[in-house]
Amino acid sequence: MKFSVKATQIEKQSKTCLIVGIHEAGQFTESAKIIDKATQGHLRNALKQGTFQGKIGQLLPLFHLPGSLFDCVCLVGAGPMDKLTPAQFRQMVTLTFKTLSATSIQKASCYFTELKVEGKSLAWKVKHCVEAASEGVYCFDLFKTQKNSQNSLRDIILHVADPKQVKMAETALKQGLAIAQGVILTKNMANLPSNVCTPTFLAAQAKALAKDYTAISTNILGEKEMQKLGMGAILGVSQGSAEEAKLICMTYKGTKTPKAPIALIGKGVTFDSGGNSLKSPDSMVGMKYDMCGAATVLGVLKAAALLKLPLNLVGVMPTVENMPGGTAYKPEDIVTSLSGQTIEVISTDAEGRLILADALTYCKRFKPSVVIDIATLTGAIVIALGNQAIGLFSNNDALAEDLLQAGTESNDRAWQLPLWDEYQELIKSPFADLSNVGGRSAGTI
Ligand code: MN
Ligand code: ZN
Repeated sequence: MKFSVKATQIEKQSKTCLIVGIHEAGQFTESAKIIDKATQGHLRNALKQGTFQGKIGQLLPLFHLPGSLFDCVCLVGAGPMDKLTPAQFRQMVTLTFKTLSATSIQKASCYFTELKVEGKSLAWKVKHCVEAASEGVYCFDLFKTQKNSQNSLRDIILHVADPKQVKMAETALKQGLAIAQGVILTKNMANLPSNVCTPTFLAAQAKALAKDYTAISTNILGEKEMQKLGMGAILGVSQGSAEEAKLICMTYKGTKTPKAPIALIGKGVTFDSGGNSLKSPDSMVGMKYDMCGAATVLGVLKAAALLKLPLNLVGVMPTVENMPGGTAYKPEDIVTSLSGQTIEVISTDAEGRLILADALTYCKRFKPSVVIDIATLTGAIVIALGNQAIGLFSNNDALAEDLLQAGTESNDRAWQLPLWDEYQELIKSPFADLSNVGGRSAGTI
């Protein structure tokens, strides 16, 4: 699917599909007005049938339009006029492209950028149009012997009304494409089953990225190296698994002058059975996704390399499998982390914080200006926030504010929870420096 930006002349579009937003109560956008005129009132007539109310994401394809050069017009519900939220805009684009990708339509000119989205610029709309369209056509069918998912769409033109804004929109398009590619990599890694996506497999993907992009380099630490360093927390989690743990370290260098890097740490538990604190069969389903933090870091590094971002990044991904078994760590075992602190393991299912503790300590050597840790860490956060927000914890208010804002901008929102010292009481252990769980209350903190 190829995207381009153009100031198109609607009535001259030939052999293509026009994708046009229509508001509730049949209110037309500028381009809908032009199309209606060019087709002798065909849109008005179609709306009179009453099957299309302009609800968000509702689709009405129209063929054989009188007096036109284009093949079809696809009307897309854009909700009440002047009330389109950023989330609704994305939802509308995703649904449109999901539906159209399953038709035989190959070429389309999309007029969504003319829609007013609360507080958002043209650049935002272009960027998110690309991201949301890519989400709509995404399909993971690697393990289906019969692929049902041929995306028919080949050429998509995003219309920009003002020719003077085309250049700016092209920059936004590039950003959207790079982010979309990063997201696809993340989703593909996440969707792979754990018998394929092992720590060794993720390490190979990290090496492949270094091969593809000269700005990226990858260094992998195996269990022997981790032992030498004293990473007792990661090794404790990994010792019940037949798969070798890998600490994946990546750097992205986007500046010539030395500049302290931003460190991204990603939890990479390729399968979390809970270990000896075994999960129930029901809650074990979905645990192949316990490596989404690491998958996200891989995706971000790829997007950064595609965009040639002028900054330095470090990605540190502790990747392990958490399994029960004769050699697995047990409740009340005490491990010594890389920081030298001892941790009493009360639940072997609270493994994320153990591997991340070692990764955070390891990360110090890169002298980062900022550390951002991304993890599917606790079920408790899902109980608190559902699937609508990411739980955010920070010891730095300015950074927290930046991340909250980035979440709003990208429509992937975060919500901050407190990290007061008083909570430290909850993880006291009578036998070690710390316990790895603090009970049910404030479970996620
Ligand atoms: Mn767990
Ligand atoms: Zn986990």
